[in-house]
Amino acid sequence: MSNIEQTLSIIKPDAVERNLQDKIKNEFKINGFEILQEKKIHISKEEAEKFYKVHESKPFYNDLCTYLSSGPIIVMKLQRSNAVLENRKLMGATNPEVAEEGTLRKKYGISIDKNSVHGSDSIENAEIELDFFFKD
Ligand code: GDP
Repeated sequence: MSNIEQTLSIIKPDAVERNLQDKIKNEFKINGFEILQEKKIHISKEEAEKFYKVHESKPFYNDLCTYLSSGPIIVMKLQRSNAVLENRKLMGATNPEVAEEGTLRKKYGISIDKNSVHGSDSIENAEIELDFFFKD
């Protein structure tokens, strides 16, 4: 019944730049997420390309990788029941303009590319993405 899962969340450069990390971390906590691990890092373009490899064929791939490597980010290992789905719900739609009221992207996102947060979209991808940043 508990269905405890872990998922990867990233506070993207636009949100770190606006110093929103404490507000966003608090949103996770009040929504029942435990932050098991976190680190502030600045990844290279090559690392961003590896992380977003699934989007390689998309027209926005290059801009996306340039953006994710443009400044510090905060990567977090989150845990709660149904963490993957619950995090996606809390984040809201990819485009902040159409994200539901109360979601992180609606509250903090600026545009479809500067949408403040990333969250794994499946249990399988959560494992892959957590390994990418927290392999120990
Ligand atoms: P997510 O899972 O909601 O983050 O969305 P996707 O996995 O589809 O896309 C990854 C990231 O690429 C998104 O968070 C956006 O920052 C960016 N992105 C997605 N679609 C577009 C688009 O049509 N244009 C641009 N410029 N960026 C996009």
